[in-house]
Amino acid sequence: MFNRITASFAPDASPAQSSLVLSKRDAGQAEASVHCLLQFFRALAGSTCSGERERSVGGGAGGGGGTMKVMVAVKRVVDYAVKVRVKPDKSGVEMNNVKMSMNPFCEIALEEALRIRESGAASEVVAVSVGPPQSVETLRTALAMGADRAIHVPVDAGVPVYPLSVAKVLRALAEEEKPGLIILGKQAIDDDCNQTGQMVAGLLRWPQGTFASKVLLDKEKQVVTVEREVDGGLETLCLDLPAVITTDLRLNQPRYATLPNIMKAKSKTIKKVTPEELNVEIKSDLEIVQVTEPPKRKAGVILSSVDELLDKLKNEARVL
Ligand code: AMP
Repeated sequence: MFNRITASFAPDASPAQSSLVLSKRDAGQAEASVHCLLQFFRALAGSTCSGERERSVGGGAGGGGGTMKVMVAVKRVVDYAVKVRVKPDKSGVEMNNVKMSMNPFCEIALEEALRIRESGAASEVVAVSVGPPQSVETLRTALAMGADRAIHVPVDAGVPVYPLSVAKVLRALAEEEKPGLIILGKQAIDDDCNQTGQMVAGLLRWPQGTFASKVLLDKEKQVVTVEREVDGGLETLCLDLPAVITTDLRLNQPRYATLPNIMKAKSKTIKKVTPEELNVEIKSDLEIVQVTEPPKRKAGVILSSVDELLDKLKNEARVL
């Protein structure tokens, strides 16, 4: 239930210079502390999660066909290239005739899961989406990219789906599917919540590595090392499996689905599991009061000289 060891270091520090810091999520748990200390000394001895001994899951050095499943949560959102328009009644953004796509961070999550499977460290990638009937299109994209199976949890069109409901759905599916890893995007670009991964980890009481910029999985030792970009450097977490990971932008470059795979994905079966079957009520404790556009920026001015700039900074902006 906790991330075992955090190695925090400056990006240019050598491994020897890196400082190891014990990290414990459930403060006050003596047992956890002892476990942490044990792992700390093991890590020092190079037996767990040490960089040299890790196998890069993306690097193709797999363990000969694992049986681990990776579950990936993929959300259908307004395409990142669309300039969203706020509805006149300020109740939300215009969704009619707007291009929808897989959330970009979910594409990265799926790509990472596919690389893990291709390395031999996992045997199956299962994509899951919670949403209206059109979410099936997003799942078809996931299948075309290479997911083995897809599960759609249908919600009536127009019903808002918030992170806690999605997290409860994922927990219920995880209890059924028993994946070794659940990978999610760090955030959905429509609601920018950045909550679902953390919530599902909390509900399942699994360790979490959020904003992953590098993932190394050791199937034999049943641990995954997650590198995260934090202020002032990189933080490395060593998590026991099963675990939850959320993906940052620099983790990988997602592949494109090829035309033959898009065609093949059209005939694949997508399993439908209703929220009721999972004993989850899709509801929200949130109410969106109003959505407004950001204030318009004033036009800039072009100055002809540095002196003019200094004058403006001094006498207009009064910052000098
Ligand atoms: P959020 O917490 O809403 O910013 O979303 C973070 C991540 O949770 C997304 O990138 C997805 O991986 C996952 N997620 C959120 N909503 C859904 C959904 N309706 N269906 C599937 N996955 C979702």
